[in-house]
Amino acid sequence: MGAQAATTGATVASPKRPLNARAGAAVWTTSLRTLPDGTALSIDCQVTGQLIDQGPVRVTDKWDRLSDGSYVSDAWVRRAQGVQIPACGQATTQAAATTPATPGAVASGAIPLKTRGGPARSTIQYASLPNGTPLSIDCQARGEAITGTMRTTDLWDRLAGGAYVSDAYVNRAGTPPLCAAPAPPAAAPDTATGKWVSPLPGFSARPGFRTPTNPNHAGVDIMSFVGTPIRAASAGTVLEVVCNIEAGHSCDQTGSASVGGCGWYVKIQHAGGISTLYCHMVRRGTVQPGQHVEAGQVIGYVGSSGNSSAPHLHFEVHVNTPPTAPGNAIDPLPFMRAHGAPIG
Ligand SMILES: [Zn+2]
Repeated sequence: MGAQAATTGATVASPKRPLNARAGAAVWTTSLRTLPDGTALSIDCQVTGQLIDQGPVRVTDKWDRLSDGSYVSDAWVRRAQGVQIPACGQATTQAAATTPATPGAVASGAIPLKTRGGPARSTIQYASLPNGTPLSIDCQARGEAITGTMRTTDLWDRLAGGAYVSDAYVNRAGTPPLCAAPAPPAAAPDTATGKWVSPLPGFSARPGFRTPTNPNHAGVDIMSFVGTPIRAASAGTVLEVVCNIEAGHSCDQTGSASVGGCGWYVKIQHAGGISTLYCHMVRRGTVQPGQHVEAGQVIGYVGSSGNSSAPHLHFEVHVNTPPTAPGNAIDPLPFMRAHGAPIG
């Protein structure tokens, strides 16, 4: 490689404050310099890193590697529609062979359209896109049926960056292809290392991973009491400490089955490409993004924030991360049993 031409014509879109160019693809890596709004960028390639949902241009986990080796979140980069940036370490010919995205736009009227972690309203909410927001649709997945402004459908559009929106509220010219089915959990490589412990010692999970009646449930639920300490299932680095809830609600109050989102949650990255997610905490987790935690360290307390009808911990295990996505969630029950920390 090296003969690959850099992508030019891209500019920083950060009107309120300068954009940080960082040493790595996450906000907790060192800021090497700051780039004012409108700065022209020379982008060599993209890597997958921390999901950024606060940028003005797009919701994405892609970070652009600049020609000087620093990284900026692609959420803050404006560039011409249809320009494909190759993945770092990938030949240009491979990038060109991918199916082009289908353009579309949000058609939701006065209420912004929510982007989510999976094809259902019960999954994690990432961002709210106002009516008219342009969309770049990679493919479609079947999920919860929704009646919207454009159509009644169970199809959800997966956007560049991996988030989903209901196709019921999307105005588009073409028909995106169906997303390839996620790899079956049995085929997922189990590369976990180190010591594993129950996130909620003394309490048991009920089986509930992707049941026939709840196919989008990407974890298991451990019923407990408000205030019970939640522990890191293994050593790792805290990736996210986030309030994920439907607009108009608060994570600092008891949720309900009719409120969307996983409430206060913490996500931890472990060795071997394994991530764990802990939802519905009673208040903000007691750890910070970028912090190292040991197996068994308290990271927050049980609550019922978000889409929850009783105090419990919703616990997810993902492989091949980052990033976490619905397709790389595995059933936590056999995984934890295999690592000496049975939870059900
Ligand atoms: Zn759950």
